[in-house]
Parts: sequence; C-alpha cells; structure tokens
Amino acid sequence: MKKRRAARKTSAMVTVTDLKRTDSGEETRIVRRLMKFEELPAYMKDNEFIHNHYRCQWSLRDTFLSAFSWHNETLNIWTHLLGFLIFMWITVVSSLETTELGLAGIFNGMYGARISLSSNQTLLHHDSNVTQHISLQNVQGEVNNHNHQGDVIPKWPWFVYLAGSMACLICSSVSHLLACHSKCFNLFFWRLDYAGISLMIIASFFAPIYYAFSCNPYFRFIYLSSISILGLLSTVTLLAPALSTPRFRPFRANLFLAMGFSGIIPASHVLCLYWGHPNVFIALGYELATAVSYALGVVFYVSRVPERWKPGTFDIAGHSHQIFHVFVVLGALVHCVATLVIVDFRRAYPSCGV
Ligand SMILES: [Zn+2]
Repeated sequence: MKKRRAARKTSAMVTVTDLKRTDSGEETRIVRRLMKFEELPAYMKDNEFIHNHYRCQWSLRDTFLSAFSWHNETLNIWTHLLGFLIFMWITVVSSLETTELGLAGIFNGMYGARISLSSNQTLLHHDSNVTQHISLQNVQGEVNNHNHQGDVIPKWPWFVYLAGSMACLICSSVSHLLACHSKCFNLFFWRLDYAGISLMIIASFFAPIYYAFSCNPYFRFIYLSSISILGLLSTVTLLAPALSTPRFRPFRANLFLAMGFSGIIPASHVLCLYWGHPNVFIALGYELATAVSYALGVVFYVSRVPERWKPGTFDIAGHSHQIFHVFVVLGALVHCVATLVIVDFRRAYPSCGV
C-alpha cells in the first residue's frame, strides 16, 4: 500500500490529506482536518468560546505527531511538558550524592555554583538579637544531610513531592495530547488528568508537613493520613464519568481548592509552634504565594477568561486553560522553595526544644 501526502494551508491552520493507494489501485483519501466547535461530537464539546482548530478522532499515530503542530491543545501539551522537564531536572539534581537538601544545596546543584549556605550561617537566625543575614561561602568540605544533632534529614518526603508533581504534569500533558483520539480515550484521559491533580496536591503536603512536624510525630501522622484519605476520596469521586463533564467544572475546581486550602490547618499549627522564627514566616509566605498562584489558575479555569470576552480569538494561544497550566507550574515551583526553606529551618535548629 503506497501513501503520499498533500498539504494545503487554510487561514491559520494546516489541513493535511493522506492519499492511500490500495493494491488494487484504488485511492482513498484520509483527511486530518482541524475542526470547528459545532462539528464536534457532543463528548468533545467542552468550551464553546474556543471556536476552531480541534483535532477529532485522528489515528493514534497522527494524534501523537500532533504534539509538533499547531492546534488548540498544542500549548496545553507543552506548558505541562516543560513543567515536567523542570521537575525532572530538580529530581536529578536532588538525587546527586553531593547535593545537600536545602535551598542553597538545590540551587547550587541546578546552577553549578560553588556556593552554599553553611549550617551555622543559615539564611535567617531565630535569635532576635542576631541580625538576619545571608551568608555564602565556598564549599570546601563534605556535604551532608544532618542537622546539628547528627540526625539525618531524609530526602524521601522531598522526592514524594517531586514524583507527585511529575506524575501530575505528565498525565496532564499526555491527556491533552491523546484525549481527542476517541470517545473512550476522552473519558479515560480526562479522568487520569483529574487523578493526577489530586495526587500532586497530596504529594505537596508530604514534604513540608514531614519536615515541619519532625518534632511532633503524632500530629505529623494525623495530618499526613488525613490529607491522604481526603485525596484518595477525591480521586475516587472524580473517577465517576459524570463528573468529567463541563457541567461539573466548578465542582472539580472547588474540590481541588478545598484540598489545597485544607493546608491552612497545619500551616496555622506550625505558626503557633514556631512563632517568631523568621524561617517559618518566610516559608509560610511562599506557601501563601503558592496558594494565590493555584487560586488564580482556578479562577481562569472556571471563568474561561479571556476567550469568553472574544470567542474565537484565543483558540491557539492565550486561552484560559493555558493560563491555568502556567499558574499550576509556577505554584508548584514556589512550593519547592517553601519546602526547602523549611528543610533549612529544620537543619538550623539543633533540638526539638526550640
Ligand atoms: Zn489541563
């Protein structure tokens, strides 16, 4: 069977036509055409403000290759794929034996700088008589992951967060790439996407709670098991096919927000336990920035602004879901910084009696 290809450009999109010649000499024409919203089957009609450039029921091969062409999901695929690659880079740097877990350690690893915060020259000091200072020195000695007592600061809760984030970002990217292939794929991948978001939220809680409550194992257990149960319940709820429909967009958004904002409880607890410690204030400031970033993303996700204001204008670039993706990646990165500040805090204080 021979195949030849013709491509022609129409306005902003490319329509690709495959001409397949069978052994009997007959020629069948297969058109991979970007469709308009009103041409879509009901299960694909999600956002009426995006008018054009939809892929619909393309072959699996063409759907995969569409990652490298322009349509209304291209930037949704790449925003989260890029986020995934950034997190993979952080994971590789973190897993190096020479990388000390902490803000300076990770940044040194990422930028290859030969500077580090020493354990006694921490970012901030809790003693109010001591001026807050940032001190950098050359790394000459061996790197370790111990606090002043010699207790090991484990890296695994940090890796739980990185793994959860990577899982969420890659699930999202693959879902945006493949969900258009068929009705079956559509149902499966959007639910996978929602499960990925739940997983990322649960994983986000692990590292900061583990490090912040390392002197309070009872509360640490309560908080971590509570968020795990809440996350699993949310995931099971979101696996119901009916909840994948556009009608339940606000419900899904509220569920994710409720999970995220349940972090206010352990955050307030940490504030009570370590009131007056600058590192804790800084970490919570970053957590607040994370929450604002996620919340802003959700506002775009639910309101479908700006495409609502000028339907059809933001089909390829600039629509609400792409903005939502960017805020998710930004929020996740700021959460990384918050977690590492807490690790620095844990390393800086020699005993649980602080
Ligand atoms: Zn998405």
